[in-house]
Amino acid sequence: MRVLRLKPHEDRRLRAGHLWIFANEVEVRQNSLTDFTPGEAVTVCDSRGAPLGSACVNPASLICARLHSRKPDVELDKTLLTERLASALALRERIFDSTWYRLCHGEGDFLPGLVIDRYGDHLTVQISTAAMEQRRPVLESALCDLLSPTSILWDNDLPARVLEGLSRQRDYSSSVPEILEVPENGCIFAVPCLTGQKTGWFYDQRVNRAALARYADGADILDVFSYAGGFGVTAAAAGARSVTFIDASAQALDFAMRNMAANAPHCQAHALFDDAFVSLQQLRDGGRHFQVISLDPPAFIKRRKDHAKGLAAYRKLNALAADLLAPGGFIASSSCSHHLEAQSLRTCLTQAAVGRKLHPRLLYAGGQGPDHPIHSAMPETAYLKCFIVQVNTTS
Ligand code: SAH
Repeated sequence: MRVLRLKPHEDRRLRAGHLWIFANEVEVRQNSLTDFTPGEAVTVCDSRGAPLGSACVNPASLICARLHSRKPDVELDKTLLTERLASALALRERIFDSTWYRLCHGEGDFLPGLVIDRYGDHLTVQISTAAMEQRRPVLESALCDLLSPTSILWDNDLPARVLEGLSRQRDYSSSVPEILEVPENGCIFAVPCLTGQKTGWFYDQRVNRAALARYADGADILDVFSYAGGFGVTAAAAGARSVTFIDASAQALDFAMRNMAANAPHCQAHALFDDAFVSLQQLRDGGRHFQVISLDPPAFIKRRKDHAKGLAAYRKLNALAADLLAPGGFIASSSCSHHLEAQSLRTCLTQAAVGRKLHPRLLYAGGQGPDHPIHSAMPETAYLKCFIVQVNTTS
């Protein structure tokens, strides 16, 4: 196996547990990065030649190599993929009784460039690196040996692939189901598999949905950015009086209403099909109030340079929620932007309440569920935050 040698001191991040190597950290006097072929497995050495592990290279990417083993001369082959996937599976089998979860969370499962969601016998796979793309046949074979899935959807229409010089596409066989019925927190959620968002279901919010449902009994709920109703339907099944869903996707709202009918037929349900900011302002201007509000927007900060604009959007959203909250009500405020610090989201929520002379109390601080393990030396693998506060009037 060829050697990728780092410049002096550039081994520090890897020795601290990180898995990425950036192009400017590579010693290019002997071997230019472009000598390597995209996806090639190499042994990574420090500037003195001591091995640090094995990685796959992509000279076209700023993240020019990702470690897949701490040992030298290890290929990312079927044996290694099977070993890693088996260990990912063993973790999920410890956590869940069912077969519905994120099976592989990229670097969090020591499998850079690979995300797999398991929906019972169906798998949805996302590949974001050239190395993993090249190994797709052995990956497929490893998955078939391990799980014998009835279908696999290769959901590779991802912006990140462009950075690796890969095309964006989805492919699948005719056996992929059109609709999945996802069991979660005692409810069943019908979601579109082929035409839905993300890989069909947002497993990452599972624990947070259950956390918010604790406050739902008898409440009027506002589920903002509802998708298929994850927060609202769970709250309805826990005894809410009514749920109002807001989403800019008509398909998402159709599924939310269908899931309400299936899981909480006696709870009132309303769907508002509009931009969330517009809907929230209209509700506020109409003098409406809710006891429980969930805010679960798409990532407003996708790249670091969007930070200021994105932060302003989170502020505005949390302020609108504070205006709509009944005294003593609860807000669950989520953000899936990796680039938004947890503390910043908490501050948005706090300032929204305090600015209205209200008294917020933090009841819950959550993140992505345990089937989305965070590599603790890689902040990049942590993205979801969810805070639940109760907001009282000050006396
Ligand atoms: N809360 C959901 C997941 C939300 S995903 C759950 O628990 O599963 C984000 C949702 O926001 C998507 O359904 C998307 O259609 C919707 N969305 C994106 N931009 C929007 C906007 N400006 N106004 C309203 N909805 C929007």
